[in-house]
This record gives sequence, structure tokens and C-alpha cells, in this order.
Amino acid sequence: MSTQTTRHFINGAYTEGTSGRTFENRRPIDNTLISQVCEAGRADVEAAVHAARAALNGPWSRLTLAERTEILYAVAAGIEQRFEQFLEAEVADTGKPVNLASHIDIPRGAANFRIFADVVKNVSGEHFDMPTPDGSGALNYSLRVPKGVIAVVCPWNLPLLLMTWKVGPALACGNSVVVKPSEETPSTATLLGEVMNEAGVPHGVYNVVHGFGPDSAGEFLVSHPGVDAITFTGETVTGEAIMQRAALGVRDVSFELGGKNPAVIFADCDLEATIEGIGRACFANTGQVCLGTERVYVERPVFDEFLAALKAKAESLTLGDPHDTATTLGPLISLEHRQKVLSYYEQASADGATLITGGGIPDMASPYAQGAWVEPTIWTGLSEDSPVVREEIFGPCCHVRPFDSEEEAVRLANDTPYGLATSIWTQNAARAHRVAAQITVGITWINCWFLRDLRTPFGGAKQSGIGREGGVHSLEFYTELRNVCLKL
Ligand code: NAD
Repeated sequence: MSTQTTRHFINGAYTEGTSGRTFENRRPIDNTLISQVCEAGRADVEAAVHAARAALNGPWSRLTLAERTEILYAVAAGIEQRFEQFLEAEVADTGKPVNLASHIDIPRGAANFRIFADVVKNVSGEHFDMPTPDGSGALNYSLRVPKGVIAVVCPWNLPLLLMTWKVGPALACGNSVVVKPSEETPSTATLLGEVMNEAGVPHGVYNVVHGFGPDSAGEFLVSHPGVDAITFTGETVTGEAIMQRAALGVRDVSFELGGKNPAVIFADCDLEATIEGIGRACFANTGQVCLGTERVYVERPVFDEFLAALKAKAESLTLGDPHDTATTLGPLISLEHRQKVLSYYEQASADGATLITGGGIPDMASPYAQGAWVEPTIWTGLSEDSPVVREEIFGPCCHVRPFDSEEEAVRLANDTPYGLATSIWTQNAARAHRVAAQITVGITWINCWFLRDLRTPFGGAKQSGIGREGGVHSLEFYTELRNVCLKL
């Protein structure tokens, strides 16, 4: 069988580009080859930015809001029509169970276009009737205009979901985009090009270039002077590198970055619901969720009971064929990422952790023995300055530690440079409210996890991000506000 090629999508057409370089995309379940991916050089990025600019100034800008939003509804419908294709592509790239991707990743990919089409149809500008000394008055109002050509740089953990979370509002606001998907997960962004064409998105509005970060497509894109603003989801350290590039030309950034999210569990919680929620927060998507939990603080009276139940939960997870409905845990994204996760597993034992469960590589039968599988893992007994407790691991693992007072729990939760998300588990609403106000994060869940109306603001505090996306909040980044004063 001939090897598939994953190409760039520039100006409405697939192209192998000009660099002559390719890289391999492999299935994390068994390390087999999916495709050779074309790597963009500077000239390819230049072509994509040029196409985006031409579309922005041309056909895209001539559509009415109603026409633009109809096209976005057609994109959403197009994803749904090709649901199985998107599902297969996402599952091949990530190894995540079909059960998960079919309930979260692909439906959200479609929803992200619908919701932002709805949002932009329903926002209005501000206007003020102004008195003037001559008595005739003035009308002072604001106009929202597209920001321009937006660079969209994406991670691999929720490829379609997180990419469309940015492309949806960018297009709804009338911008054009150049997307740089993660080198680990190039397939669904590429497939979306076909949907864009079928939905009638003018050529050049949506472009995709493939490659890596430094000295490759990612860096070429964010350094390109034709890019007006950069939206990025990924590691904090990458955000720092991109921000330096954004400084050239004083371009705006929207960053969704890393986390080391705490959960705080009080003794009066509904333990069964808490275990269910924390089990998902720690292990869903094999722990590769920015909002996932890697630090669990439990009030001492229920510590032993909680730990035993979480251990049982971890040990009940089923690894294997992503298409098997019984499978609840996929592999990590790559063997390279597994190396990183395993280095923390080793660090934990070097730092004297008590291993509650897991800690290594599971014994996988053929054909999965070559895949990037890792055991779900729980530790206790580490000091708070261990790298395992301080650094984002992005694997199916957590450290569980007891606490004795509300003040101590808040102090421990806040003892991190990150500030993305937290969850608080208690039946005492007043306490939940009080603690939520004290933990410095962008999103707090009380007695739940990963539940959110897409119209609400999403983003991180401290080193977990810059800006808020979601609902009308996305307009702050994807549009420019202009002030017009009309003397009457
Ligand atoms: P990453 O930072 O390694 O890579 C993300 C993207 O940036 C990739 O497309 C990569 O090629 C590109 N890139 C890397 N260096 C670059 C550079 N110098 N210039 C331009 N582009 C560059 O992140 P990842 O490993 O793909 O994803 C995991 C990380 O993403 C975790 O830290 C996770 O917490 C974070 N994340 C955050 C959120 C959030 O909403 N806050 C959501 C998902 C993932």
C-alpha cells in the first residue's frame, strides 16, 4: 500500500509546498505509520499568509454578516456530514477511544462554528448621543471590525476541538486564518479544508501549514509580519517564545497555556460523585487535558477512603483498541511524550513517593506492544517542592495529599506558578463559594469538572494564559473596536 501524504491547504487547494521536506505521522496505539506530512518552509508560510490577506481584503470582506454566518452553519453541518471521517482521523492521530472522541472532540468541532455564528449575530455596538457646545450634538459610536490575518497555533491533545475553538470565532468575526496544527495531529485540520470548500468559504480564508515549532512552520508563521494577531494553545514555555516574536510589530496575543491544576476535596463531599469527577479529571484523555487534575488535596477524615476509591477507579480503566466500546483509556500521544511522563514516574520514586497504583508501562498484547501506553498512576507522600508536584506532567497521574484546614487547602492549591483551573468538592455552598474566591485560577468547578456553557469566559490566570475566549469574550481578541464620532 502506498504511503498517504498529508498536505498543506493554501488558498482553497491542497499542496505539497516547496520545501521538499516531510515528516512522519504515527499512530500512538501501535507506532504504525499514518502518513508522511509535508513540512512547510518560509515560502509556504508566505503563500498562506498572502492568501489569507487577499481573502480578507477581497471576497470575505464583501459578504454580509448573514451570508458569513450561513457559511459557518454550513461548515458545522459539513463536519457532521463527515463525522465518521473526522472521528477516524482524530482517533488515528491521538489513539483516544472512539467513545470519547465521538462524544466530545468531533461534536464540539461542529458546535464551535455554530455557537460563534450565533454570538456575532447577536452582538450590537455601543452608541452615545453627545451634547455639543453649538447645540447640534454628535453621535459617538463604536465599530467592531475584524482584526485581520490571525495565526492559529494548536496543540495535540484535543486537536479539532481546540483548533475550531479559535477558527470558529476568528471566521465569525470576519478574519482569515493560517492554522499551524500540532506536528503530532495534522489530520483533522487538513480534512477541514474540504469542508470549508464545500461550505462555500472563499479560498484563502482558511489555510493550514504543517510543521514543527522552532525554525519551522510555527516560528515562521508567528514571525511573519503579515500576521496581525496570534492565538496559541500549548505549553507556557512555548507561549513565552511566541510572545517574543509577537513583540515584533506589536501584535496582539491570546494564550491558553499549561496548568498544574489542584482539586480540593472536603470531608462533607458526596464521595461517590467526587470519585467519579476526580477519576475523569485525572485520567480522561490519558491525563492529556489542560484542565485535568494532577494535584489532589483531601481533608484528612476522608483521605484513606478517598485514596482507596480513586485507586479502584484507576485500576478499573481498560486500555486497548480505541474502537472497542469497553476501552476507557488510550495511549499517550507519542513515545517521546511517554518518555517525558515516565521521567516523572522515576522522579516520584527518587523523591520518596508512596506508589498507590501504576508507575510504569502496562503489558500490552500485540499489536499494541509498540504503542505509547502508560499506566494510570497515583502517588502520595511527596513534598510540595518535588518537580512531580510542581510541574505539568500531562499524563494519567496525580499526587494525593491530606489537609487539615480550609486555609491550608487554599494555600496548597495556590502554591503554583500556574492558574488554569480547580475543582472544589463539598456540600457546604458557603464554603465552596468562599474557597472559589480565594484560589487564583481562570475556571473553578464546584462538585463537577469539565462542565461549561461555551458562552462563558475561558482562560487562565498567572502563567496559564493571557486573555479570555468564549462567547462575546472572544470578540475582544478577534475584533478591533473603532471609535467613530459623527458631528450632527
Ligand atoms: P507545545 O507548546 O509543545 O506545542 C503547541 C504548538 O506550538 C504546536 O503546534 C507546536 O508545533 C507549536 N510551537 C512550538 N514551539 C513553537 C515556536 N517557538 N513558535 C511557534 N510555534 C511553536 O504544546 P503541546 O505539547 O502541543 O500541548 C500540550 C500543552 O498544551 C500543555 O502544556 C497543555 O497544558 C497545553 N494546553 C493548554 C490548554 C488551555 O486551554 N490552557 C488547552 C490544551 C493544551
